[in-house]
Amino acid sequence: MEAVGKGVDSASERVEEIVGELRRSFTERRTVGYEWRVAQLKAILRMIEEREADFMAALYSDLSKPQMEAFLHEISLVRAACELLLKELKHWMKPQKVPTKITTFPSSACIVSEPLGVVLVISPWNYPFLLSLEPVIGAIAAGNAVVLKPSEVAPAMSALFAKVFPEYLDNSSIRVVEGGASETTVLLEQKWDKIFFTGNPKIGRIIMTAAAKNLTPVVLELGGKAPVVVDSNCDLKVAAKRIVVGKWGCNNGQACVSPDYIITTKSFALQLVNALKNTLEAFYGKDPLESKDLSRIVNSNHFERLTRLLDEVEVSDKVVHGGQRNKELLFIAPTLLLDPPLDSLIMQEEIFGPLLPILTVDKVEDSFDIINTGTKPLAAYLFTKNKKLQKKFVMTTSTGAILINDIALQIANPNLPFGGVGESGMGSYHGKFSFDAFSHKKGVLVRGFGGEARARYPPYTPMKQKLLRNLLNGSIVALILALMGWPWRE
Ligand code: NAD
Repeated sequence: MEAVGKGVDSASERVEEIVGELRRSFTERRTVGYEWRVAQLKAILRMIEEREADFMAALYSDLSKPQMEAFLHEISLVRAACELLLKELKHWMKPQKVPTKITTFPSSACIVSEPLGVVLVISPWNYPFLLSLEPVIGAIAAGNAVVLKPSEVAPAMSALFAKVFPEYLDNSSIRVVEGGASETTVLLEQKWDKIFFTGNPKIGRIIMTAAAKNLTPVVLELGGKAPVVVDSNCDLKVAAKRIVVGKWGCNNGQACVSPDYIITTKSFALQLVNALKNTLEAFYGKDPLESKDLSRIVNSNHFERLTRLLDEVEVSDKVVHGGQRNKELLFIAPTLLLDPPLDSLIMQEEIFGPLLPILTVDKVEDSFDIINTGTKPLAAYLFTKNKKLQKKFVMTTSTGAILINDIALQIANPNLPFGGVGESGMGSYHGKFSFDAFSHKKGVLVRGFGGEARARYPPYTPMKQKLLRNLLNGSIVALILALMGWPWRE
């Protein structure tokens, strides 16, 4: 562990020292060159290759994450993100030429992507490998020095990062600081050039408040209640498989893009519930508490939180499938509920676990109103073959992202920005968006000493004003006259 010291004073001193070191390194432009960035990204690839078993073991220790999920949803995604950055970085770092306007003729213009400086990445526990490393590699690719603060709720991964980062990466510019709320508070007292936070909206507000003191820009990757609308005009067998694997096959529902609740029509609900039940049984057996293919609940606090949602009056009798739990093993079986009250906790809070309520409406279009009266989610899903309905959903639902006819796969396309809107966050990353999230886009306009237009200089006269008006309106005659220094006598 990067020791930040016991007690607030020594912790502050240690953090100040670390940030000071990183700032010196950035000021000396150590992190800015293409070679440094590439060397660090390659070192991360090497770290993943050589320590894959350790990372998998940490994911198992923190979450009992099945190996298949750990590989597909964490290891392989970071590797792919790193490879994409290595492939495109040179090209993305080049100044990007942009067109010029007649008003600045003759000139050239470009956008230069410059690193921001020293950035802080604060990550959550649910995908502790992916959601730490993917922002970190974006920060490195953009030429920044970076501190990673992993989640204390995934202690094995946090300790492993603290151990292996110094073995592979440039310690003068890339550091891990471990700890929970109090250590993060100490970190937030420092001046950062960007804070990239993934977590819940309540803590997001704390982060943004702290950042405001130094006008530090933030990316907030938050969560919310992701709805899934299921229309009767769909391939139910395929939809059920995709919903089940997108909910319980993604960290047992402890994922920010996990389905939080389903909305379907009253007339279709029974068919949908049966299809989900059959699929759950086919995937996880008759006794899911025995399944090795489901992650456990991360800790007893979250176990208690989820059982509170489930045991609320007027909710517990809405369970139509599952509901079994084992407190010692921190395990709750995949659970379906039908029509819990809209004002119940389970329908008010982000569930972030293996419970899936199903709401019913008269017409499928009514579901859009339910979604739009809530806060804006990070993801919204629709299963339908009806193209008109798909289009209406895309045009009327405000959400971080939309995926039609599948769950969670939007994150697998690096050409799509990943981020929220409103209560689900601000800013985005993945692919080129990661590079952009950690860069300042500096506009550069270059002129020579020719092309003098006397008309722009005082004393201002009606003639000059007329010429400039015509010039701004795009008149070539005015341009020629202006470049010839007209009006010659005023
Ligand atoms: P969290 O907000 O509790 O913790 C996130 C980070 O904040 C941790 O590193 C933690 O140490 C730190 N933190 C906790 N309390 C703090 C405080 N008082 N002051 C400063 N820092 C503090 O979130 P979590 O429980 O780790 O993750 C679950 C939440 O994150 C859910 O809401 C989920 O939807 C969201 N999430 C979003 C994404 C996304 O990409 N948008 C991904 C995963 C999780």
